Amino acid sequence: MSEQRRFSKQRKLIYDMIVENPIHPSADVIYSRLRADHPELSLGTVYRNLNVLSEMGAIKKIDSRMKSERYDGRTDDHYHMICEKCGKMFDVETEYQTDLIHEAQRKTPHLLKEHNIIFYGICEKCCDKN
Ligand SMILES: [Zn+2]
Ligand SMILES: [Zn+2]
Repeated sequence: MSEQRRFSKQRKLIYDMIVENPIHPSADVIYSRLRADHPELSLGTVYRNLNVLSEMGAIKKIDSRMKSERYDGRTDDHYHMICEKCGKMFDVETEYQTDLIHEAQRKTPHLLKEHNIIFYGICEKCCDKN
């Protein structure tokens, strides 16, 4: 089995995990979930594949206030919320503000390329617990 083919199989494994679990997992979460069934996987391999997938545009890397980056299988423009209790990240289905960048661009000399909004709060499940 060639190195190339093994690499592709691992990449697909990681990609599928992100798409099938819309929790915007961090690299650590991806690694710990996949490791049980795939002990040959290393954290370094996970990071390497996440970078390749992000560069290909297959997934999105999201910087958050949390200490690790999160990965998203949805690549269309949308907003997020992070639960301050459990740390999970969710999609927020509010209309994407396409005009915002044009409005902002008129008021700044810097070249704006995109925008992100992350709401912070408490998720449905954590609200129910209280
Ligand atoms: Zn929560
Ligand atoms: Zn998302």
